[in-house]
Amino acid sequence: MIIKRILTVMSLALVCSIGNSCGEPAGNGSAISGWEKMGEKTEEEEEENQGQNNQGQETTDPEDPYADCWFKTRGIVAGWGDVYAPYSSYKIDYLEIAKEHGLNTFSIYGPDRTSQLWKDYMAEGAKVGVKFEFQEHMMSFLLPRNLFSTHPEYFRMNKSGVRVEDANGCPSSEGALEQVYLNAKRLGESYKPTNHRYYFWLDDGGDICYCPKCKDYSASDQALIFENTIIKALKELDPDALLAHLAYNNTTNAPKNVKPADDIFLEFAPFHRDWSHPLSETWTEGNSGWTHAKYLKALQENLKVFPKETAQVLEYWMDDSLFSGWDQSNLKPVPWNSKVFLDDLKTYAKYGIRHITCYCAYVGPGYVQKFGFPDFLIEYADGLRDFRKE
Ligand SMILES: [Zn+2]
Repeated sequence: MIIKRILTVMSLALVCSIGNSCGEPAGNGSAISGWEKMGEKTEEEEEENQGQNNQGQETTDPEDPYADCWFKTRGIVAGWGDVYAPYSSYKIDYLEIAKEHGLNTFSIYGPDRTSQLWKDYMAEGAKVGVKFEFQEHMMSFLLPRNLFSTHPEYFRMNKSGVRVEDANGCPSSEGALEQVYLNAKRLGESYKPTNHRYYFWLDDGGDICYCPKCKDYSASDQALIFENTIIKALKELDPDALLAHLAYNNTTNAPKNVKPADDIFLEFAPFHRDWSHPLSETWTEGNSGWTHAKYLKALQENLKVFPKETAQVLEYWMDDSLFSGWDQSNLKPVPWNSKVFLDDLKTYAKYGIRHITCYCAYVGPGYVQKFGFPDFLIEYADGLRDFRKE
């Protein structure tokens, strides 16, 4: 079960990185998928910020009716087919939900981002206060695999000492970093989020480099080396750019040997947790040996390295792609539990988290047709909007 999930995630990532079913134009340099959103800054717990950066300053908009909300980012990550189905009698009007219930950040994978349709959708979103970002695994675009034949040294060394181009790269390779820098600039130019939050995730489930120079760096350290390069490129395009460090799967634990550059923010995604129990039930064990205690410890450790003000959680409470085993032809109901959700919000707020987004992939017309309207979308939005820290 666990392995199946991981494999499915990896397959999905592969499909995404190749090009399409995740909706990105294939292979044409402007290919990318997703970005997301986030941030601002909070007023509390500055003391642990180590003064390392003042990223993510949040500007309070006096017109913002949600200015008093604890959670500044109230987001979703969904597919284009989930949010845009104008001719379906089962469509879900996500923009209307945003307008009425205070969601403010969408990361949508799959649209043709050069199309007028997409531009119009973003314009409609802007009218109801929605910011757009792109959350996706980007490494195969940052370090194109076709460079392997001429520059194997750009790519990771496996545990047998062989360079392979299956995932990620060698962060100790200057040439690899140069490629990542140039491509980050190119891709960042093509896909600017409207909230300055960029997401150039490394390969999903991809292994890391074990070359002599990299072997003492953890997966999180190696990710951060790439991210420290990417943010440099993005800053040239957008001085307010922030870049996510995705703490997920093999990068869940905090980096130890590499420090984040300014304006790298933590994005914490507890993919292996159990959603039938709140995180506060620390003894609960999810997949791959991840107990809730282990996740919360990892979150705490990460928050010693990354600023709390901009830290974001990427959750799966409503991720029907996960709950359906990534099989859209056999959708399962989302096992939504509002008590778990609200308790989790308390837990995250306790750590100072003020930015939350959640997958709701596959929660579209097909879902409505099979199970009726997903009231949990409203409970989710209202829960984030109405939460007040005790
Ligand atoms: Zn290496």
